[in-house]
Amino acid sequence: MLDAVVVGAGPNGLAAAIELARNGRSVHVIEGAASIGGGTRTEELTLPGFHHDVCSAVHPLALGSPFLRTLPLEQFGLELIEPAVQAAHPLDGGEAVALMRSLDETADGLGRDGRAYRSLVSTFVSHWDRLADALLGPLTRPPRSPLLAARFGSRGALPAAVCARTRFRTPQGRALIAGMAAHAVRPLEAPGTTAFALVMLSLGHACGWPVARGGSAQITASMRAYLESLGGTVEVGRPVSALAELPESRAVLFDVAPRALAEICGEALPRRYRRALRRYRIGPGVFKVDYALSGPVAWSAPAAREAGTVHIGGTLQEIASSERAVARGSISDRPYVLVAQQSLADPTRAPEGKHTLWAYCHVPNASTEDMTAAIEAQIERFAPGFGELVLARETRTPAQLQAENPNYIGGDIGGGANSIWQTIARPALRPNPYATPNPKVFLCSSSTPPGGGVHGMCGFNAARTALRRALR
Ligand SMILES: Cc1cc2nc3c(=O)[nH]c(=O)nc-3n(C[C@H](O)[C@H](O)[C@H](O)COP(=O)(O)OP(=O)(O)OC[C@H]3O[C@@H](n4cnc5c(N)ncnc54)[C@H](O)[C@@H]3O)c2cc1C
Repeated sequence: MLDAVVVGAGPNGLAAAIELARNGRSVHVIEGAASIGGGTRTEELTLPGFHHDVCSAVHPLALGSPFLRTLPLEQFGLELIEPAVQAAHPLDGGEAVALMRSLDETADGLGRDGRAYRSLVSTFVSHWDRLADALLGPLTRPPRSPLLAARFGSRGALPAAVCARTRFRTPQGRALIAGMAAHAVRPLEAPGTTAFALVMLSLGHACGWPVARGGSAQITASMRAYLESLGGTVEVGRPVSALAELPESRAVLFDVAPRALAEICGEALPRRYRRALRRYRIGPGVFKVDYALSGPVAWSAPAAREAGTVHIGGTLQEIASSERAVARGSISDRPYVLVAQQSLADPTRAPEGKHTLWAYCHVPNASTEDMTAAIEAQIERFAPGFGELVLARETRTPAQLQAENPNYIGGDIGGGANSIWQTIARPALRPNPYATPNPKVFLCSSSTPPGGGVHGMCGFNAARTALRRALR
């Protein structure tokens, strides 16, 4: 009999399997799709020779992850490359705010808001390792650095719109906070959205915002290779719909959505817990476009021409309005758009002289609206002539994202809504969120703390729980 079966080979499923295997347990991973990776796949979506990240693109959380950092993934083919500018946020008039690796350089670029910026983030940058330990595990566990956690909590709990307006005086400083906080996929007036901005900014200085050479798929390809070197095994093309389909094991860890866990386990989980899993709230969706380009994007702002990530949406007011619209269930015609320019730092992504571009905007869950024109109008606004570079494009609606990966319900890429409550009680309020009432069943997907992103911490935390409770 196996020690453990892991269902789902996303970064969290593989992280769980690695932690079990490196503690000497036998583990088999079963993936439903034809290939591993979940949210870290890379494919030639547009034209031959153009390698696009189907889902995740930029990986500060992988570098900042207390677990992934301990793995020898470079020995298994992973290379993370930092762009010259971590992220840029263009504004009308041809300028951009730049998140540089250096905190000082970033603060200097903010002029009158430089001091406010330093005082907001410098402690978290200096103590990222201790902060990561507090933030990337279950928030129900007492932190090892309580003062640091309390300082983060008191600042992070503020709505980002309030933090931006009260701490910053310039449109540049306010826009920077808005673009970072909008990663929460929540209205910027919502409590807790400042925490997202603080994490993204601190990671930019403490770790960088890199892309993976060859594509995000290299992250999970290297994890798989490391897992196999430890004796773990992986099987693809086998979607699991019932516990009875699984080989016998002492523990099962699920890299799936909470509703799917309820369906697959059925009566093996108590009715009350299944009801809680079904009540778990899903967040808005995303609409994505990948481009094959004949050359680099000629952004008006020089900083954006060197940036791995570009936050598009203009001022605090505009981004706040676009995120409010999505939360209300409507569409903004000037959406906040996340853009990644992987091929600037990683020339393997496109034929010589050519480039890839990755872009998405937030939309209401399961929206069927085609956002291509709105996304391109926003890019044109800050990079006139962009349309002339486009050789080919491929779009992904929320429904397509879900068809490719059942975890992305209605196009929600974060594993559930990021309200303060669901950050703590993820997927339900329990002393240990990775454990279920069934002593051999565990949840390890991004619907557990710390939530979405390629960091593997949900998988790691779930595996530690399984080792203590079922695999001693
Ligand atoms: C468009 C997009 C952009 C993103 N951008 C970024 C980014 O730039 N940086 C970042 O850090 N994160 C980003 N993310 C988020 C990141 O990809 C996810 O948070 C992360 O992949 C979650 O990892 P996971 O292992 O929990 O789940 P997933 O990566 O979703 O993996 C789950 C796996 O389980 C499999 N599975 C599900 N159900 C079953 C079943 N019943 N039987 C068998 N297999 C099953 C799925 O096929 C999938 O392979 C993005 C996601 C998307 C979609």
